[in-house]
Amino acid sequence: MELRNFINGQFIDSISKKNIDVINPANQELVGKINQGLEDEIHLAYQAARKAFQKRILIDMDPKKKSKIMRAIASKLREYKHEGGKLLSKENGKTITQCEGEFNGAADTFDYYAGMTDKIENKLIPSGSDTFNYVVLEPFGVTLQIVPWNYPVSIFASMVAQNLIVGNTIIIKPPELCPISSNLYGRIFQEVGLPDGVVNIIHGYGEITGRKLVQNKECDYIVFTGSPEVASEILKETADRIIPCHFELGGKSAAIIYPDADIDKAVDSTIKGIFKPNAGQICVAMSRVIIHPKVKDEYMTKLVSKTKELKIGAGDNSSTEVTPLISKEQIKRVSNYVKSGVQSGATLTLGGEELEIGKGNYYLPTIFDNVDKESTIAQEEIFGPVTSIFDFEDNEQAIEIANSTNYGLASGVFTSNDQKAKWTAERINAGIIWQNDWFVDGVNLPGGGYKRSGYGRDGGIDGIYSHGQTKRISKRLK
Ligand code: NAD
Repeated sequence: MELRNFINGQFIDSISKKNIDVINPANQELVGKINQGLEDEIHLAYQAARKAFQKRILIDMDPKKKSKIMRAIASKLREYKHEGGKLLSKENGKTITQCEGEFNGAADTFDYYAGMTDKIENKLIPSGSDTFNYVVLEPFGVTLQIVPWNYPVSIFASMVAQNLIVGNTIIIKPPELCPISSNLYGRIFQEVGLPDGVVNIIHGYGEITGRKLVQNKECDYIVFTGSPEVASEILKETADRIIPCHFELGGKSAAIIYPDADIDKAVDSTIKGIFKPNAGQICVAMSRVIIHPKVKDEYMTKLVSKTKELKIGAGDNSSTEVTPLISKEQIKRVSNYVKSGVQSGATLTLGGEELEIGKGNYYLPTIFDNVDKESTIAQEEIFGPVTSIFDFEDNEQAIEIANSTNYGLASGVFTSNDQKAKWTAERINAGIIWQNDWFVDGVNLPGGGYKRSGYGRDGGIDGIYSHGQTKRISKRLK
């Protein structure tokens, strides 16, 4: 298990001599002590990334060579998925199957973008016989990338793969709560011969190392996935330098269930949208359900009954369906939101308390009914296994409730009428709309937020353009 920082193609011995304890959320056991990167490590990482950028390593690389390296990274990720999956499950709490799936997904991302290295065509703009104008996609320079703890391996892949295509060199900070599995990337980069300095991995606490990385004058561009609160801090820190930022932030995603929906499908989607994936600790969690009273009884009866049957437990048990929350702090956060829901007058239909299994951070899948759309639990991201149910009478009201938060990440519509689904999708303010399922996804599909959920797009070809800047070159011929 490699616990050091990865700089300029090497894992280096700690200079700060400080470590971060990484704790298993299922039992509070120590998984490992990762080296904390501070001033010296940060300086070396920026130096390496700057040098790699100035040498134009990525920009001038033959696209076939870049593609080969990226495909090799994908294949190593698949090779290490069992080792990596076990490790990630220990430090993050998700099931081993989900964690191996993250490695597979990360591999798919590198494979997809490996196929794009020679497909970014630039534009020639028609301008008569006197001038010659063309537009090229160029990198920003040295980019800082900051990763959250819920999907650290796949988000790492998405950030790095897209930026390698554009030509930004990278300093990436994995989340302090589950950083160790990200070090497999360092090993892989060495094995596949990624040039030194192109990607550097620095570990540390957000408020210390993260902030220092953001403040560093060598940073040209910031890619951040995490909470809107930290995004806002980053914007304040970089305001004077006018650093471009790419933000994938939180959500309060709503599903609208019309009376003509397939209710069994809607129930299954709810369970996989809020309870099963990482115990609701997911940016696109189905944390709100807006349902027509005609089908509500059937939906609620089925949802409650199926939710009660969910198996809650540790990620290393293959039958587990709902895993622990990442930390005791997260348990406290979820408990406080649930208390506030009860105080606001919402009906606690199911759950609403911690579950004691050894020393694990378990919280029961929780359903609130009769929720006031202005209440805290309806407005704020809980980031746990808690969903809120709202009724609607007419379609306009459903849209109004769906759009009533400051977030705009994902959303869903359940109906057998395509025209109604289209009408709904066009009116919801969110970057992703799913129809008749939660999670219809793929690496070739762009996604990102509206409003407080961020800006910039990841995935597909849009993702590539989102991580670069265009330059116009205009020549007078006569
Ligand atoms: P967070 O904002 O607390 O932390 C994210 C990262 O930022 C971590 O690596 C952390 O160390 C770092 N950080 C914290 N403070 C910092 C600072 N002052 N300066 C620089 N870096 C700092 O978020 P989290 O708790 O890790 O993740 C949960 C959040 O991430 C939720 O809001 C969730 O919705 C969001 N998220 C969004 C997406 C998406 O694609 N939109 C995906 C996953 C998670």
